[in-house]
Amino acid sequence: MPYLQLAIPSPLRRLFDYRPPQGCSPESLRPGVRVKVPFGRREVTGVLIRVTEHTEVPPDKLKAAIAVLDETPPMPESILKLARWAGNYYQHPLGDALSQALPVLLRKGDPCEYAHQHLWRATADADISQLGKTAARQRELLLLLLEHPNGISEDAIRAEGGQTTLLKKLTDKALAESFIHKPDHGHHDNQPLHEAPLTLNAEQQQAVHAIITADGFKTFLLQGVTGSGKTEVYLQAIEHFIRQGKQALILVPEIGLTPQTVARFKARFNLPVVVLHSNLTDRQRLDAWLQAREGVARIIIGTRSAIFTPLKFPGVIFIDEEHDTSFKQQDGFRYNARDLAVMRGNFEQIPVVLGTATPAIESLYNAQQGRYQWLKLNQRAGNALPPKFELLDIRQLPLQDGLSAPLVQQIKDHLKQGTQVLIFLNRRGFAPTLMCHDCGWLADCNRCDAHMTLHRKPFHLHCHHCDSQRPVPTTCNSCGSTELKPVGAGTERTEEALQKLFPGFPVIRVDRDTTQRKNAMQQIMDRVHQGLPCILIGTQMLAKGHHFPKVTLVAILNADSGLFSADFRGMERTAQLILQVAGRAGRADHPGKVVMQTHHADHPTITSLVTEGYQAFAQQELSQRIAAHLPPSMHCAMFRAEARHPGMAERVLRKLRDLLEPDILQPQGIQWLGPLPSPMEKRAGLFRAQLVLQSRDRKALHQQLQNIIREAEGDPEARKVRWSVDVDPVDML
Ligand code: ADP
Ligand code: ZN
Ligand code: ZN
Repeated sequence: MPYLQLAIPSPLRRLFDYRPPQGCSPESLRPGVRVKVPFGRREVTGVLIRVTEHTEVPPDKLKAAIAVLDETPPMPESILKLARWAGNYYQHPLGDALSQALPVLLRKGDPCEYAHQHLWRATADADISQLGKTAARQRELLLLLLEHPNGISEDAIRAEGGQTTLLKKLTDKALAESFIHKPDHGHHDNQPLHEAPLTLNAEQQQAVHAIITADGFKTFLLQGVTGSGKTEVYLQAIEHFIRQGKQALILVPEIGLTPQTVARFKARFNLPVVVLHSNLTDRQRLDAWLQAREGVARIIIGTRSAIFTPLKFPGVIFIDEEHDTSFKQQDGFRYNARDLAVMRGNFEQIPVVLGTATPAIESLYNAQQGRYQWLKLNQRAGNALPPKFELLDIRQLPLQDGLSAPLVQQIKDHLKQGTQVLIFLNRRGFAPTLMCHDCGWLADCNRCDAHMTLHRKPFHLHCHHCDSQRPVPTTCNSCGSTELKPVGAGTERTEEALQKLFPGFPVIRVDRDTTQRKNAMQQIMDRVHQGLPCILIGTQMLAKGHHFPKVTLVAILNADSGLFSADFRGMERTAQLILQVAGRAGRADHPGKVVMQTHHADHPTITSLVTEGYQAFAQQELSQRIAAHLPPSMHCAMFRAEARHPGMAERVLRKLRDLLEPDILQPQGIQWLGPLPSPMEKRAGLFRAQLVLQSRDRKALHQQLQNIIREAEGDPEARKVRWSVDVDPVDML
C-alpha cells in the first residue's frame, strides 16, 4: 500500500508518513498538493513531497490523512523548488519553509481560489451631503467606500477602522450597494504605457540594453548614485519584458516608506500592478498571489516574502536597495530574499538586477569576481549635481539638544533662502536615557543589558530592545534624589528644540512613533511636496528612496554612531546610511549640501567616504575583510542560543563544539569562533550566546552545520535552550 510522505510545518527536520485518506488513489496525487492531517492534538496542512511504497513507521502508529486539499499543486514547480532549496540552504525545517512560501490562507487550508466575495461600493450618485452632521461614522464609512471605487470587502473595511454594521444604514439611504467581485482578467498589452518614458542618458541606455538582452539567467549589479535614474532604468527595462508578454517582480525594503516608488510604477504602466504591502488582509494577499500566478498581474511589487510569489510568465526580477538588511529575515526561517532572487533567476532562466547606490560588500565582491555584471550610473540624471559634504568637528562645541551653533546658523540660512532642511538622527524618543545627577544611576531595562529610552509623548520609559515600558520615576531608584535628567538627544527632543529655534517654520518629525497610523507617511510626504520651507527631522525612515526636490541641506547629527560597533559590518552600515541620507540633498535644480556633525572628523574611513565616495570606501573595506578572513571571502554561519539562566546557552554551545571539533570524521577546513556571550548578553530576560563557524568550503560548512543540528536535536540539555542557525548572517549581534 502506498504512503504519503509530507512536509509539515513543525520544528522537526524530517518528513512525516501518513496513510492516504479514505477513498483516495495516491497514484494520481502530484507532489506539492496540500494534505490536511492530524498532527499531535492539532490538524495541520502539510505538503506532499512524494508517494512511497515503504515506511519505517510501525503500522499501529501510522495515521490516516484527513483530506487532500488540491487537485493541482498551488505552488508551481519553480517555487516549490525554490522553497525546498531555501529550506535546505538555510538549514530550516522543510515543512516550515514550504509553509512560509505560501500565502497565509493556503497555510491554513483554505481553497486555492479567488474570493468570490461580496464587495461594497458607493452607489453611482451617492452624495455625502445627504448625511447629516450627526452621522459622523456613516460619513467616514461612505468616504471609505468612495476611496475604493472598485469595491472593498467587509474585512478590509474593518481593517481600515470602518463599521460594517452601518453598511445597512447606507444601503437603506441608497448610498451604498454590494456586488459580486470578479477578478479582472482583461489584457492591456496594446497600450502598456500611461505616460511616455524619459529620454535616457548614455549610462542609462547601456544599463537598459544590457538587461533586456541578457537572454536567460544573468545577475546585474546596478550601482548608481542616488538620483542617477536607477528607477527609470527599472521602468524602461520592465517595459521591454511587458511588451513580450512577461511579468516583472520588484522587491523593495519597505513599501509603507516609499509610496513614491510605487506611485511611479502605477503612473507609468497601464497594466495591473499588484502591491503586496503589510496592510493587505490575508484574503487580498491570496488574490494578489493568484493574480501573479495566473499571469493577470503583470508587475508585482513587494517586500522580502514576495520572493516566493509565483509568476506564470517570469520576465525579470529587480531588488531595489539591494544592500538593505531587511531582505534578510532575522528570525525563524532566516532566508535572504536578495540571494534567493539570484537563485530563482537561475531556476527560471531570467535576469536579476540588484540596484543600489551603495552596494553591499558581498555584492561588490561578486561583481568583481565576475559573477555579476556590473552596471554603473555615475552621473545624476537631469540637471541635479552631487551634494557637497562638510565635516563639522564638534569636539570642542557644546551641543544644545543635539545641535551645534554652526549647524543652527546653516539651518537658518537655508530656510531664509526658501528651501527645506532635513535633519537625520538615528534615535527616536526624547533622550537615550535618564540619569541621576547626584549618583549617576541610569534608567536600565530590567530584562535587557540596555538603557531605557525616555519618551515625552506619551511620557514614559521604553526599552527599544524588548519593548517593555514603565512610568518615569520622580526620584532616583538608588539614592532618592529628584535630580533626574535626560541624557543625550533623540528625535523628539531635537524636534522640540527646533520648534523653539524656528517658530516660523513647520518642523515635521518622521520616525516609527509618528508614522504608525495608516497613510501617515503619505500625508507627511504630501506636506513636504507642497514645497514650502520646513524642517524634517527623523530616523532612517527619511533615508529610504524619497525624492525631496526642495531639500538643499541635509544634516547628520550623530554621524559617528555606528563607527565602533561590535559587528564587523558596523562601518559598512554607517557608510551606506550616511550616503543614503546625503542622497536626499539637492535632487532637483537646487544644489545640495550635507553637514555631518562628528567627533572623528579625521577618521580615515569618514574622510575617504566624503572625499572619494562610496566606491573608494567599499574597496578599502573589502580588502580589509579579505585580509581579516571575514565574509565575503569566507562563508559564515552562526549558531545562537538563549536560556533563562546565565551561562547555560554558552555551556550548550561549548559542548557541541567540544564534541564535534576534534572528531576526525568531521569535515575539515572549518574555523570555530566562540562560543561567546552575545554583545548584548541579556535581552528580553534571556541570556544569549553565539558560536560562529567559517569556512572557504561551503559544502564542508553545510555538512558541519547538519551535524551540529543533529547533535543539538538529540541533546537533552540543548532542548532546554532555544537555539537557532543563521546561514550567511547579516547581523552578528
Ligand atoms: P534613483 O532611483 O537612482 O535615485 P530616480 O530614477 O528616482 O533615481 O531619478 C531621479 C530623478 O531624475 C527623478 O526625478 C527622475 O524623474 C529623473 N530622471 C531620471 N532619469 C532621467 C532622464 N533620463 N532624464 C531626465 N530626468 C531623469
Ligand atoms: Zn541617584
Ligand atoms: Zn528591554
